[in-house]
Amino acid sequence: MEFFTWVVIVIALCIFMAYNRASLSTFSLAFIALMALGTFLDIVSFFGWFFFAIIAIPLNVSSIRKEYISAPLLKVFRSIMPDMSTTEQEAIDAGTTWFEAELFKGNPNWTKLHNYPKPRLSAEELAFLNGPVEEVCAMTNDWEVTHELADLSPEVWQYLKDKKFFAMIIKKEFGGLDFSAFAQSRVLQKLSSVSSVLASTVGVPNSLGPAELLQHYGTEEQKNYYLPRLATGEEIPCFALTSPEAGSDASSIPDFGVVCKGEFEGKEVLGMKLTWDKRYITLAPVATVLGLAFKLRDPDHLIGEKDDYGITCALIPTDIEGVITGRRHFPLNIPFQNGPTQGNEVFVPLDFIIGGAEMAGQGWRMLVECLSVGRAITLPSNSTGGVKSLALATGAYARIRRQFKLSIGKMEGVQEPLARIGGNAYLMDAVTTMSTGAIDLGEKPSVISAIAKYHLTEKMRQCVSDAMDIHGGKGICMGKGNYLARNYQGAPIAITVEGANILTRSMIIYGQGAIRCHPYVLAEIAAAKNEDAKEALDDFDHALFGHIGFSISNICRSLWFSFTGSRLQKTPFSDQTTRYYQLLNRFSSNLAMLSDISMATLGGELKRKERISARLGDVLSYLYLASATLKRYNDEGRQIEDFPLVQWALEDSLYKIQEAIDDLISNFPNKGVALFLRFTIFPLGTWLQKPSDAIDQKVAEILQTPSETRSRIGKWQYLKRDPAFPMGQLEQTLEDIVACEPIYTKACKGLGKYLPFYKLNLVAEEALAAGIITQEEADLLSKTEIGRKAAIDVDDFDSEDLRLKK
Ligand SMILES: Cc1cc2nc3c(=O)[nH]c(=O)nc-3n(C[C@H](O)[C@H](O)[C@H](O)COP(=O)(O)OP(=O)(O)OC[C@H]3O[C@@H](n4cnc5c(N)ncnc54)[C@H](O)[C@@H]3O)c2cc1C
Repeated sequence: MEFFTWVVIVIALCIFMAYNRASLSTFSLAFIALMALGTFLDIVSFFGWFFFAIIAIPLNVSSIRKEYISAPLLKVFRSIMPDMSTTEQEAIDAGTTWFEAELFKGNPNWTKLHNYPKPRLSAEELAFLNGPVEEVCAMTNDWEVTHELADLSPEVWQYLKDKKFFAMIIKKEFGGLDFSAFAQSRVLQKLSSVSSVLASTVGVPNSLGPAELLQHYGTEEQKNYYLPRLATGEEIPCFALTSPEAGSDASSIPDFGVVCKGEFEGKEVLGMKLTWDKRYITLAPVATVLGLAFKLRDPDHLIGEKDDYGITCALIPTDIEGVITGRRHFPLNIPFQNGPTQGNEVFVPLDFIIGGAEMAGQGWRMLVECLSVGRAITLPSNSTGGVKSLALATGAYARIRRQFKLSIGKMEGVQEPLARIGGNAYLMDAVTTMSTGAIDLGEKPSVISAIAKYHLTEKMRQCVSDAMDIHGGKGICMGKGNYLARNYQGAPIAITVEGANILTRSMIIYGQGAIRCHPYVLAEIAAAKNEDAKEALDDFDHALFGHIGFSISNICRSLWFSFTGSRLQKTPFSDQTTRYYQLLNRFSSNLAMLSDISMATLGGELKRKERISARLGDVLSYLYLASATLKRYNDEGRQIEDFPLVQWALEDSLYKIQEAIDDLISNFPNKGVALFLRFTIFPLGTWLQKPSDAIDQKVAEILQTPSETRSRIGKWQYLKRDPAFPMGQLEQTLEDIVACEPIYTKACKGLGKYLPFYKLNLVAEEALAAGIITQEEADLLSKTEIGRKAAIDVDDFDSEDLRLKK
């Protein structure tokens, strides 16, 4: 054997073992075998063995390795480790990781993904969705809510309380509905079909708020008192964290409480004087109980040794003297109850603290733990429900509305935004299903909830904007018949609340993802913080060498994928989806490598390099969104008719991953490292394209043609075919139009002239008189004309009606 052949075998073996993540000892043993073979063939000399020993012995003898490699590196690590405040640490510690950790590790286990059970509704949940939810949708008139009442009607409020809409998360033993996260998501999606005010009003008490906090941290007495009252709507809750000086930086709230003695209900008790000024608080104007976050001080040491306890959460009845609520903000013409609240030295007993006095100072931990669940449900579900409904409505409208003698949905220019709506509707539903499914499996997925919150609210904003463009003036002129404008106006609300989106993308997704999902970083940080020197070194050594092996493996995997076009791999299915799994594997390895290289080269500075962090977060996010789409396709029986939607969602996600990596490399601060990254990841340049025009056309056609695939897009949405509910009525008109098109063509042919596709009743009369069509066909044309006209009509008003009236 020649020297050259031997070297090739060595390199191939290295890549093979690195690709398969062989351990250090396996690596070393394999090398010894190769060296022995080399010696036998007279290729490896004494110097070769000497050189090998210099490298292998320090790496494999733990005492040498720790003293000469790990200990100095631990020092360096401590010096570059990012500072972490207690609140940041608590945010990192909150929640669990799930499938996103697989995506972060560079080698996702697809069998695991497809084995997660498909979420299902119980009989009780389904009955609720088909009963009370359907009923309250029928009772709600969004124009009346947003334009006339600036609130839900008193009947709707009462119905929501009577049917326990505010108690979906409350356990049965306290009189609640105790629904799964998946069921809550379906309820919110359906409510979103009708009114954002309705969906927000129901969503908030079921998300982060007094009920959730009490169930996790409340004392028995607090639970027994409040939860049954919250379940029946006797108490209306709100949760007040945000203040004028502390929005995104919520942990810096200036609101405070001072422990002191005072009189409450005629008795002297140990309590606290609370002073707060909060704003933007949903349900505050109508709340009877205010969940309040403030910083607790104990200058006289009445409850312990500490002066400052930090963020604490308490429940304050709003009828206590000194509590100011009632005034309202006016959020973008979506007038759900939202407003400020203040209090100045309001004295309450210490046992108003959620969980009692021993939970003083635990407020931030409580909030971030609950947020890791709630953030995956409410806003993603409201956004998804909105987009599912508008996908059907926009598809129907595009088929019904004609210009230049054609349905506007046949025009390529319109098909592009229409496809964006259809593909995103499919993807968004996949993501809410998978994420709420994770919660129902017992996870508190803090990284997934940030991904879902950011991406689904952004997609909602894009889709509603696309829908507006497609509807033209019909979307702009407001009134009872406009089912889009309020969603368009209100889109920035979801973008801003529960962690404003720029912050969520720039800091939270990757910031938490990198530390929580990385297989070694958390262990390294923990070791570096350990004050026991021996234990710190042992743990750091273990994590560090795991980390080095992991990094080498991801570099080798990335190179292998780049130079083989990522084709030579096993995937769970050999069909049209194969290529998608291959590319997701490739980008997952790229993410793991990019992440390690960014951390190694930027250290603690990475935290401040928000745009690097945001792009790494984008890669992780789109890997997650794409995986959820593949899971949905499989869970729904791999319906080939749905495949254009999968194709659109996957190709859009993969393209955006490529774009994020490309931008990241172009802007990487260290240009030498950037060159290496480009060579490893894109040796032949970028090559993925956006979804093609042909895919766009197929998706646009799906939205415009009644079918099972189209029905799956709108599954469980409120679509009652009632002339008072324009979106439902559109569904009927779409079916009628489709049925009418051949009749109309027959009429035109028979009459020997082109008739415009409007005034279909006149077409019917003429064609019937000429004996070209039957009475039944003529009736259908006339009925369709009524629906068609309603679909394209807009409201107009008397000037007087539009003037603000007291
Ligand atoms: C309609 C509505 C309902 C709400 N309901 C409630 C409620 O019920 N209870 C409650 O406590 N709060 C509530 N909020 C508050 C909401 O959570 C905050 O508005 C939100 O946290 C943002 O704070 P801010 O508006 O002060 O924006 P700011 O904090 O001033 O942020 C402004 C911009 O700067 C960006 N930004 C800030 N820091 C960073 C950073 N480090 N990196 C990158 N970008 C950054 C943000 O993303 C944002 O785009 C509500 C708000 C609204 C508008």
